[in-house]
Amino acid sequence: MTTAEAMPSEAPFPAIRPIECTPWCTDGDGHATCVSRRDQVCWGTSNYVELSLEECEVNKGEKPGSYLFWPSIIGPCAYRGFNQQPVVYLHFTLANRRHDHVLDESCKLTAAEARELAAHLIAVAEMIGGAPAQ
Ligand SMILES: [Zn+2]
Repeated sequence: MTTAEAMPSEAPFPAIRPIECTPWCTDGDGHATCVSRRDQVCWGTSNYVELSLEECEVNKGEKPGSYLFWPSIIGPCAYRGFNQQPVVYLHFTLANRRHDHVLDESCKLTAAEARELAAHLIAVAEMIGGAPAQ
């Protein structure tokens, strides 16, 4: 056995070394209760927009007469995976009754890409003449 060989050791939980959270991390506790390094992720606050022109999904709830409503949504938040640079995490959920499924996807953008996309969204919104949101 060499001295560099990893050996398991018992330690009181939490046993994983905390990371230094980003200033915008909603947890801000170093994620020391995670069970792996890749779970030590910093998330910022999500800001979703309900897409009123897209389909929604409605299902019966557990209580009689109650329903669960899932609108189509899109929203960005700040994200930093373990040992990664911070990115803009763009998440979207699109209901689609025709195909009877919900598309639940995300993509990551650099800060520059997010600014470019935001500028394009604003330019197109102004082009079609919609009133700014209050
Ligand atoms: Zn964090």
